[in-house]
Amino acid sequence: MTVSVLPPSPSAFAKATWDDVAPYFDELAARPLEPSSIESWLLAWSTLEELVTEAAARAMIAYTIDTGDPDKEADHLRFSTEVLPRMEERSVELARRLVESGYSTPDLTTTLARFRTQIEIFRDENVPIFAELEEHSARYQRITGSITVEWDGVERPLPQLQPFLKSSDRAVRERAFRASTRPYLDRRDELSALFDKMYQLRMRAARNAGFANFRDYIFPAKFRFDYTAADCERFHEAVERAVAPAVERVLESRRRRLGLEVLRPWDLAVDPYRPKTLRPFANTAEFVGTAQRVFARVDPSLGREFQTMIDEGLLDLESRKGKAPGGYCETLHFHGRPFIFMNAVGLVDDVMTLHEAGHAFHAFAAHEQPLIWQRHPGSEAAELASMSMELLAAPHLTQPVGYFAPEDAESAWLEHLEDVLLSLVHIASVDAFQTWIYTSGQGGNADARDAEWLRVRSRFERGVDWSGLEQERVARWYRQLHIFLYPFYYIEYGIAQIGALQIWRNSLDDPKRAVARYRDALALGAVRGLPEIYHTAGARLTFDADGIGELVQLVESEIGRVRAKLPSGEGLSSPERRVANGS
Ligand SMILES: [Zn+2]
Repeated sequence: MTVSVLPPSPSAFAKATWDDVAPYFDELAARPLEPSSIESWLLAWSTLEELVTEAAARAMIAYTIDTGDPDKEADHLRFSTEVLPRMEERSVELARRLVESGYSTPDLTTTLARFRTQIEIFRDENVPIFAELEEHSARYQRITGSITVEWDGVERPLPQLQPFLKSSDRAVRERAFRASTRPYLDRRDELSALFDKMYQLRMRAARNAGFANFRDYIFPAKFRFDYTAADCERFHEAVERAVAPAVERVLESRRRRLGLEVLRPWDLAVDPYRPKTLRPFANTAEFVGTAQRVFARVDPSLGREFQTMIDEGLLDLESRKGKAPGGYCETLHFHGRPFIFMNAVGLVDDVMTLHEAGHAFHAFAAHEQPLIWQRHPGSEAAELASMSMELLAAPHLTQPVGYFAPEDAESAWLEHLEDVLLSLVHIASVDAFQTWIYTSGQGGNADARDAEWLRVRSRFERGVDWSGLEQERVARWYRQLHIFLYPFYYIEYGIAQIGALQIWRNSLDDPKRAVARYRDALALGAVRGLPEIYHTAGARLTFDADGIGELVQLVESEIGRVRAKLPSGEGLSSPERRVANGS
């Protein structure tokens, strides 16, 4: 059978089963590999993977937009549990042929290193294990995606409670906090039983591949070639030493500003500088149009790329019932286009979630690389693209270009800077927790897991009074979908945030040059290692308390500078304010 002619577009594979895809792999596996033909063979293989992964991405997008449609779920599951795992199996076979051929070019070095690692850890018996894990992941998404809360007589998906968590009325905030936590408490046994299964499967897959535990497996599996488990533990210590105290200072200032005796968990989202909730945009069209102007200010070519996304319908941004929670940016590899999915509800956080646009710019830039494997670096570089964009776009968020009146832009910026610090302690918590889960030997015990989460949380997160709310505090990790769906995908955010802060520091001196270096780094795709990508962007990889502490100091001094420009806290902590806050 000869199938040399590939379909012209991914839509040909929209309803494909593995049997429709397999003949193309059979042919690539059988074609003789000679020096003269190896480049065209590589290109055909890459194009085939582009077609199949784009068809799979389109099925995943359709499903997450409408989780209640059984046909869309079936299409997504067919790709994620059947087509993609089988394709990965055949890809490892082709990768083995490539590695054995001895063919190499400088721009294939990192790809070949990944292929070698993939071959080393691949086990036939793990294929059904990862397929089963995908089914459990879909179940987690189904459970959490179907959660609605009755709020003032209206049934709402959880993201729509965000505005109430930011209410200046403390009683409303508390009610919103309890309402959004309750569904996870009610489903705790169901979710922990689901996690038990995932834990067992992951540990079994790791042992099958010759590793003592799933943490040791994940380093090669995620191609973490440039840092170690010990570096991650140094990162935890650095956050504990340099960031946790800064967060405590930020929260102490918040407490005083709000005029409260103690901060409770429902006091963390309200803006202590503006009594009324900022509504940066009224509808999706305004949201998107403003974003386009902001990116054009950061760099005209970024503005053009975002306009392409608008024109081609590559955005689904507003929260609706039936959508999966969260946000993501998916790459459509055949067409070289990104797609952004979000649950925007018209708040400041949504503007910051334009984070996803940083991933989109990365997809555009890296598509210049000819082969699919040369485009997507690890998440440490991917999140560098997105987190840097949050910081680089910040100076352009003021009207008439951006979303905010000048004083609101200041308070939004302040909120973002505080979030940078708060997110670092959260990242350290999530990574330290997962390290414990997969290395302590007790990760399969639901009660021990919950107890460990509390221990880890109190190590990193200070300045909030959780007394009487231990169960609510525990509920937080059940809400962290990465722990279920993308194990160990979290420290990357921390590594990237530290890199992004360095790019931002550069932009304070020379914004044009900082953005140019940023774009150069994105265009490298995956053809260089992490240290070189960071170096190109103008940053360095660092895990130690000194390097991290320096950046925390810079963030704190910027926080101080912005705070000084805002109306004084005196008025806000007047007796009336205290009454309004119910303390
Ligand atoms: Zn991201």
